Amino acid sequence: MTRFSKNSWALWIVWLLLVPPGLYLIHQIFPPPQIEPWHLAAYILFFVLTCLMPMNINGASTYLVQWVTIAVFLKYGIFVEILISQLTMLIVMVRSRTDEPLTMRIPFNSIMFFLISCFSGLAYLGAGGQIGSLNLLHILFYGLIFQLVSVFSNQIIYYSYDRLTGSQVKFFSVDALWDFALTLIIFPYAIALYISEAYIGIPALLLLGIPFLIMTAVMKLYNNTQLINNDLQRAGEIGHQLAARLTTDEVLDQFVIQVSDMFKSDYAYVIDYRDSNLLMLRMFEHQEFQKQSVPPVRYYKGIAGNVILNNTPVCYNKKSDWEDIVTGYLPIDTESIMCTPISRNNKIEGVLMLASRKKYAFKSHQLKILDILSTYFAVSLEKAGYVQKAIATSERCGLTKLYNYRYLDQALEKSMEKVKSGELRNLSLVMMDIDHFKGINDKYGHQSGNDILIGLARILEAEVGKEGIVARYGGEEFVIVFENYSKDLTLLFAEGLRKKIEKHDFLIQQDLGAERTIETVHVTLSIGVSTAPDDSDEPNALLRNADRALYIGAKQAGRNKVAAYAK
Ligand code: GH3
Ligand code: MG
Ligand code: MG
Repeated sequence: MTRFSKNSWALWIVWLLLVPPGLYLIHQIFPPPQIEPWHLAAYILFFVLTCLMPMNINGASTYLVQWVTIAVFLKYGIFVEILISQLTMLIVMVRSRTDEPLTMRIPFNSIMFFLISCFSGLAYLGAGGQIGSLNLLHILFYGLIFQLVSVFSNQIIYYSYDRLTGSQVKFFSVDALWDFALTLIIFPYAIALYISEAYIGIPALLLLGIPFLIMTAVMKLYNNTQLINNDLQRAGEIGHQLAARLTTDEVLDQFVIQVSDMFKSDYAYVIDYRDSNLLMLRMFEHQEFQKQSVPPVRYYKGIAGNVILNNTPVCYNKKSDWEDIVTGYLPIDTESIMCTPISRNNKIEGVLMLASRKKYAFKSHQLKILDILSTYFAVSLEKAGYVQKAIATSERCGLTKLYNYRYLDQALEKSMEKVKSGELRNLSLVMMDIDHFKGINDKYGHQSGNDILIGLARILEAEVGKEGIVARYGGEEFVIVFENYSKDLTLLFAEGLRKKIEKHDFLIQQDLGAERTIETVHVTLSIGVSTAPDDSDEPNALLRNADRALYIGAKQAGRNKVAAYAK
């Protein structure tokens, strides 16, 4: 049972009020001429064959059959043309691949086709065109009026409809230009068909029909090559863009955004294949990244699982093709799916899935391009991984994994700029040095000294958290930088830290003696604090001032102390 919605009832009522009475009126006012049934039957048969040919070029199948409808109009007049156009509408609709229910589309399209037929037919007759004329100039001139009114009213009706339903459409889109170009080719064919049919009868249909179909086939090929060329060019651009990204997150995000845009998908997913599980890495739905978490599934499950097991990309045109396979997450209104493995060095790293709410949304050449793109993607991801690692090692100290002096220097420079521009009110620096550390090395060995440095690094990180950055400044010297910490607040923090370290039991493994015993060691810190803009507004001066406070105010004052820089 087909369900009727309120809207389709309304449409059907409009249809009933408009189309049958309109047809009756037209029949009364412009009765069709004497019709030889065999001729008309041959025309209709030929016409249906033309409609059934797979000659959709860029979506313009209705325009192509116009070469027959114009000839029919010139020969039989407006009434027969309306009937033939309604037939076109039915055939095209049954063959087209959209989701809207037929209960809506039939009355809607019937009304549209009826209006277009009326407008163009009445324009022809109103301007003074004669039905059945064999005067070439007459046919060309009035035929052109018919054709132009038909194309423009079609364009205007669909444009208004799109505006009414809220779509943002351009009046002159690339598709519309294609349609206009096609009508220029169709018009002479239609005139030639009409005239030669008038003189030689039914053979004219074959004589012109065969080259017409060959021409549309060639145009279709040309159009496809254009589409493939465009897609290849776009794929190349995406490849370059991916190669320029330096972090794995950027590569992932860019890839998903670009690929969804290129293939006009509603949903895009990057799925990671790790430890025999499939884990959702990125979800991009309706142009936005989604944050919700999806539980991992076993690697062989669902559509992605199939792609992994067979190591081949797949393309599904509609829901019934994949319904039995799916196990994991997919939005309910999904129809078309393209899914390809992401592999590097013959090893599958994951799966990319693009989905659309439309049926037949993806073409087979697009799947091949997507496959190539996913290789670009895997390579870019690997490269970004190396770059990230290289940057991380160049910014970190090998022993404690804290930031090194180089990073500190740059970070301090950036923060100081923010102080100068007024973005930050304060910038405080804590410098600390372990007291008598040489003695620890001498007593417990260099390795144990290292262990204490590492232990201290972890404590500093835990204490500072996201409030600031911790760096190893030199041997047993560390620095903390706090943005927006006043001097008082920083002194408070430093004092807390000093007390914490003083009490902390560092456990070390004695490696000097014969026996490897665990021992508890205590260390203390001497700490100096300086703040910008109070003490200075240069990064180096800030470091120098904290150093002076440390040595004069803390070390010389007996160690295990906190001191602030004083001018
Ligand atoms: P104070 O700062 O209290 O004046 O005395 P100190 O003994 O800590 O000062 P000094 O500058 O004389 O010695 C620092 C010592 O830190 C010297 C060196 O053996 C040790 N040190 C520096 N870097 C490392 C390291 O990476 N590992 C180990 N185990 N020791 C280090
Ligand atoms: Mg020291
Ligand atoms: Mg020192």
